[in-house]
Amino acid sequence: MSVAILAAERPVCAYVYDRAVLHANVRALRAALPAGTRIAYAMKANGDDRVVAALLTHVDGLEVASGGELAAAVAAGSPFTVFSGPAKTDADLRAAVAAGAVINVESLHELRRLTVHGRARVCLRVNRSHPALPGSHAMAGVPTAFGIDEALLPEAVRLVREGGLDLAGFHLHAVSNNLDAAAHAAYIRGAVAWAGEAAGRWGVQAPIVNVGGGFGVDIAGDGRFDLEAFRDALSDLDLPAGATLVVEPGRFVAASAGWYAAEVLDVKQTHGRWFVVVRGGTHHFRLPASWGYSHPFTVLPVDAWPYPFERPQVRDATVDVAGEQCNPRDVLARDAPVSAVRAGDVLVFANTGAYGWEVAHHDFLRHAHPQFMII
Ligand SMILES: *Cc1c(COP(=O)(O)O)cnc(C)c1O
Repeated sequence: MSVAILAAERPVCAYVYDRAVLHANVRALRAALPAGTRIAYAMKANGDDRVVAALLTHVDGLEVASGGELAAAVAAGSPFTVFSGPAKTDADLRAAVAAGAVINVESLHELRRLTVHGRARVCLRVNRSHPALPGSHAMAGVPTAFGIDEALLPEAVRLVREGGLDLAGFHLHAVSNNLDAAAHAAYIRGAVAWAGEAAGRWGVQAPIVNVGGGFGVDIAGDGRFDLEAFRDALSDLDLPAGATLVVEPGRFVAASAGWYAAEVLDVKQTHGRWFVVVRGGTHHFRLPASWGYSHPFTVLPVDAWPYPFERPQVRDATVDVAGEQCNPRDVLARDAPVSAVRAGDVLVFANTGAYGWEVAHHDFLRHAHPQFMII
């Protein structure tokens, strides 16, 4: 990774993604899941074509959440595609039916619209009633724009049958970034039991039980999703007859496989506070700004210095890492202790492979995009 960064164009501003880490993350997750579980990588976490292509050799398919992602999944040759999203257009639905995707239907109205597009394979996305889960972005068990309330299921099943749709199963994605492996296993057990019951009641043979993503990554600390505890807690999971368990991990697969690197353009002090200003910022990696935390980094020293004058630097201090935007909120880290950092060195932010570039406001201020490298 360091070699790739040091070979990048100057001033360095790059994302580096590592195929070996992507593959290792999928292997680790698969080893902790019940045998036969299908892994559909949630490509919104990192939709870089080369990342998706690399992952397709290890996962069973892709989870997509827009018409654009669906088109990318089709182009990439995804063998098994599941399509979620609360605002699918008719064009999206048509494309999904043509692609043979499993459509996670989010409302009765969506079901009705789907019936005009042919014999679609659908999973009903259900917003079940269950206690809140740990993690960020709760999507079920609370009022959200996602899924169908349990009370509406009889109506949903009636629409499926009358519309000639193929009821493949249930989609129950509930949360993102859950670091509590025991709680996540308990959620999956509850979801599987619920889906078994529902499949029995509605006569769904060999159901898909899609429990979604949500496997957490502590991108700024040293917590971790305990895969061993997770595996143990699921070891005697009782799936309904013929059922296929599907998971849709995004963050867990991609986060630790990415690094964001930004060269220091200036080091300066104002009103007693040190600022390290980089070629890059929150328009490339937005999570520190949107979640309000400091992202850890390491300093990759670059000894070459092209100018005939003094090199701005600071030693043994705490610094704020500011980006290139003319905006005081463009800060990647605050009060970060550094032993030495100089203009021309490169700051490397690990764990930036998921929801990094994808969720950032790339074109605000028209700074050049980073370079994207895959190793
Ligand atoms: C975002 C999303 C995922 C992926 O979530 P992670 O927390 O990244 O694992 C999976 N399924 C659906 C429906 C999603 O919206």
